[in-house]
Amino acid sequence: MESVTGPKDVIWDITYACPLRCFHCYSESGRRAARQLGPDGLLRLTEAVLRFQPRSVTISGGEPLLVKGVFEVARRFGEAGVERLLYTSGWTLDETLAQQAVANFDRICVSLDGATADVHDRIRGRRGSFDRALNALDLLDRAAGDRVPYGVDFTVVRSNFDQITDACALLGARFPRLRTIFFGAAVPSGLASRADFAERELLTEEQRERLVDPDFVAGLRAATPGAARVGTTDNRVLQMHPERVRSAADFPVVQVEPDGAVRAMSIYEGTVGNLLTDDPDQVWRRAVDRWRDPFVVAALGPAHTAVQWAEAARRIDLRFGSDDDRARIARRPAHR
Ligand code: SF4
Repeated sequence: MESVTGPKDVIWDITYACPLRCFHCYSESGRRAARQLGPDGLLRLTEAVLRFQPRSVTISGGEPLLVKGVFEVARRFGEAGVERLLYTSGWTLDETLAQQAVANFDRICVSLDGATADVHDRIRGRRGSFDRALNALDLLDRAAGDRVPYGVDFTVVRSNFDQITDACALLGARFPRLRTIFFGAAVPSGLASRADFAERELLTEEQRERLVDPDFVAGLRAATPGAARVGTTDNRVLQMHPERVRSAADFPVVQVEPDGAVRAMSIYEGTVGNLLTDDPDQVWRRAVDRWRDPFVVAALGPAHTAVQWAEAARRIDLRFGSDDDRARIARRPAHR
């Protein structure tokens, strides 16, 4: 099969099913149809993704560990020499799944959004999710040892900003083999793009600057026992501001929905084809064309603050989303 020049990194949201109900969920998983493929469809889509010749594939969701066949998919990517990353909340992880995850992925990341159960569980919408995330890290630590790097991804909002340092201290002390702790400012995508959420939970401009301030990051490193590498990002790159993304080389990432539909722009609704039916090269070209669409440029160009960015995201989602997307957006709950 002919290969195509395309994105270097693929993010595949392999299901929109999820046992959690995070208040910032970018994919609105659990609130939309799972659109999960069966075993044959998963393997066909795996082959279609490989036509991009990616250097890495991130399997995310939803909760990927709910998907029967996720490890066969990972094995196939591994055979093709593609680096495989798994993102999980850890809710369903048990000893068997931990061993399978370690055997089939090159890096594993557990999401944790607080240093205490009350903060994490409120953000994640399910009591017990903090304990389950820590339990998942314990299981991965035992299964992975020093062989497979595992880390923590922390989505930073106003509700947990003050817990960042405590999270470093907690995680570094309890998991000495933890490889990474990564703090990323929440971006206005999905539920996090709601106007009331943007006003109350997206970081203020001051917090966003502080998060990436070298002195602040050095303080976090100093507060982290063990060997974990601590990093932060304001996630501005995900905005895909027209001045920053002028060509495909500026954002060599593509996001694939569970059934193979491809988003034009990672964090925004709107697809440009399906890898199971369309030529990947054309799909990628349509995606890159969308970045320069006059509507997108007009929406994102003047968006500088987080609140402005959220407003632009809502406009893009309504303009390019499907009828189902628009119906879901109309049903979004108010942020409490
Ligand atoms: S765990 Fe991830 S996919 Fe599930 S609700 Fe939370 S943010 Fe969404």
